[in-house]
Amino acid sequence: MRIILLGPPGAGKGTQAKSISNKFSIPHISTGDIFRKNISEKTPLGIEAKRHIDKGHLVPDKLTIDIIKDRLDNEDCVNGFLLDGYPRTVNQGEALKTLLDEKDIHLDTALLIKVPREFILDRMTGRRVCLACGASYHIAFNPSKVDGKCDLCGSDLVQRADDTEVTVNERIDIYEAQTQPLIKYYGDKNLLSEVDGTQEINSVFDSICSILAEIKNDKH
Ligand code: ADP
Ligand code: ADP
Ligand code: ZN
Repeated sequence: MRIILLGPPGAGKGTQAKSISNKFSIPHISTGDIFRKNISEKTPLGIEAKRHIDKGHLVPDKLTIDIIKDRLDNEDCVNGFLLDGYPRTVNQGEALKTLLDEKDIHLDTALLIKVPREFILDRMTGRRVCLACGASYHIAFNPSKVDGKCDLCGSDLVQRADDTEVTVNERIDIYEAQTQPLIKYYGDKNLLSEVDGTQEINSVFDSICSILAEIKNDKH
């Protein structure tokens, strides 16, 4: 399947992406994870991206689109992919469409994880992430088995530099201004599906599986 995850920061995209990617054996592609890896390795891309990310701003489209273009050319994407955090602007959505058209493939769905603004701050400030594998935890809502260590790979968990109250509010504003228009964009193409992201993590996943099963059946 070829899936895009939409939703505000803290909606649970990364959390659900890990489970979806396992179940459907498709690569989980997170532009945020790609940027964080480059930042920790101090690559030129990482140094440029950090300037924007630390302020809660988007990384410029040109850089981001080139990254996705490269990543989708990878062999592991031939049977499908799950995009988490891309596209974040209509311009990025258009660029994705051009890339997919060139390959003569199309999206199955843009899945919106709906979570109202008032849920987001608690989720973000309690978030802890594994920089090695991208797994996301929460100190209260989804703690790791061993305090401070990733369940999946055992690496240390850290708080992201951009998960502070001020930056989170900035990111939500930017989401509303620049990313929300993608909901209409995919709705107009009949590609939008929606899930209630305020349920507990396993229930969100069950709902997502039902939606994806229906989409798969419709195609056959
Ligand atoms: P996103 O990738 O959309 O920014 P994450 O998957 O990183 O979101 O989730 C943000 C935070 O909220 C994490 O700390 C995660 O453990 C927690 N979280 C995710 N889904 C839920 C949920 N359904 N209920 C409560 N907390 C959640
Ligand atoms: P979250 O799910 O918590 O919003 P991500 O890990 O997806 O965070 O992204 C972290 C930051 O990386 C974003 O706030 C933004 O600065 C940058 N970023 C990630 N994906 C994109 C994108 N597609 N376009 C521009 N900037 C991006
Ligand atoms: Zn890990």
